[in-house]
Amino acid sequence: MIRVRHLIDVLELEFAGDVATLASCDELEWEGHVSPIQWVKHECRTTASAAVDALRVGELEGHLPASTRALLSGEIGFDHLALLARTADAVTGSGAAAGFEEGSLLAKARAHSVGKFRHDCEHARHAADQRRFLAEQVEQVEARYLELKPGFGGSRFLRGFLDSEGGATLRTALEPLARRSGDDDLRQRDRRLADALVELAGHAMDAGLLAHSGSQRPHLQVTATLDTLVGRDGSPAGELEWGGPIAAETVRRLGCDATVARVVFDSTSAVLDVGRARRVPGPATRRALQARDGGCVWPGCDRPVSWNQAHHLTHWAQGGSTDLENLVSVCRAHHWKLHEGGWRLIRTGDGMVVVPPVPFDLLPPRGLAPEDPLALVAEQQWEWLPHGSPPAAESECCAPVAAGPARARAPDAVPTD
Ligand SMILES: [Zn+2]
Ligand SMILES: [Zn+2]
Repeated sequence: MIRVRHLIDVLELEFAGDVATLASCDELEWEGHVSPIQWVKHECRTTASAAVDALRVGELEGHLPASTRALLSGEIGFDHLALLARTADAVTGSGAAAGFEEGSLLAKARAHSVGKFRHDCEHARHAADQRRFLAEQVEQVEARYLELKPGFGGSRFLRGFLDSEGGATLRTALEPLARRSGDDDLRQRDRRLADALVELAGHAMDAGLLAHSGSQRPHLQVTATLDTLVGRDGSPAGELEWGGPIAAETVRRLGCDATVARVVFDSTSAVLDVGRARRVPGPATRRALQARDGGCVWPGCDRPVSWNQAHHLTHWAQGGSTDLENLVSVCRAHHWKLHEGGWRLIRTGDGMVVVPPVPFDLLPPRGLAPEDPLALVAEQQWEWLPHGSPPAAESECCAPVAAGPARARAPDAVPTD
């Protein structure tokens, strides 16, 4: 493989010389293409950047004699030589007084990988012409963009470009949030990075770090009927501003940590009454919950409490109370697992225990088998209910803890804290 790679590099050098020869010819030789780069890209079926590298190496080969010999002897690869040529071109073109010094850079090319040598070349370009280097970085900042294109079902496609500092800032902020949240966290890295981006934005809203829009802090706005919140069959989906229809379970999760207002409509959908917005749970309960749990209660999770949300073990929309007995503090990832993911959280004498979702085809046709983990959950929830009454529906849900951006609007039944 080493020998084959070296042969390829030598052929790349020969190819570069041919591209330079083509570029020196009359444009008739380009057969209608606007430039030799276009001809090479099209006729040789390669990329524009590969064609540009080849042209640059071919044109500067005579000015880089030691580097060319180093390639022929296998001391450096063609990618090293292309970087050397690009740096020589930039330094010479800038008219820097120091000029381009091949020897010192070639020594680094011999010692370093292509990735590290790329940094060496950047340092050399900065040393030769700081003003041009700065101008290029300013161009990068000016070229920043981010597209959020609508996809199916309210989803969004992201595409964009960030300069070196912008990219480093985003990555530095996302990396700690993208770590696995426990041994049971099987998410791939790209999924964890996407989750981290959403968590970062959500936390900025929760913590009130964003500028007010009008008289309100930025927040998610959800509208749902009481039937949806309770989970009755035949109920419509919830409606998320900027997101479209969302599942009832997602409405309940967002409602766990939200300010809730009741809106009553008449038969013609005219608004009859708008109740006072109420925080769920209230600030005092939230502080007590944070002090008691100290962080995410999911076993093995180390998310700090300031990044967590409150979860109702039995959702307030399904009869659960918003007092400490029925609340736990969980991070966003685990809160999602407890709702959309179908997991259960059980408080035992030894702490919290999580129960994975039961596949549909393993559920008994009617009721719950005694040995089924769901039965254990149901029994536990029965004990936690404030007045000893059974849960109104198949219980599992939540109430909110940290000051969050979500605002659920239900047409009826606003919980009290
Ligand atoms: Zn967690
Ligand atoms: Zn919840």
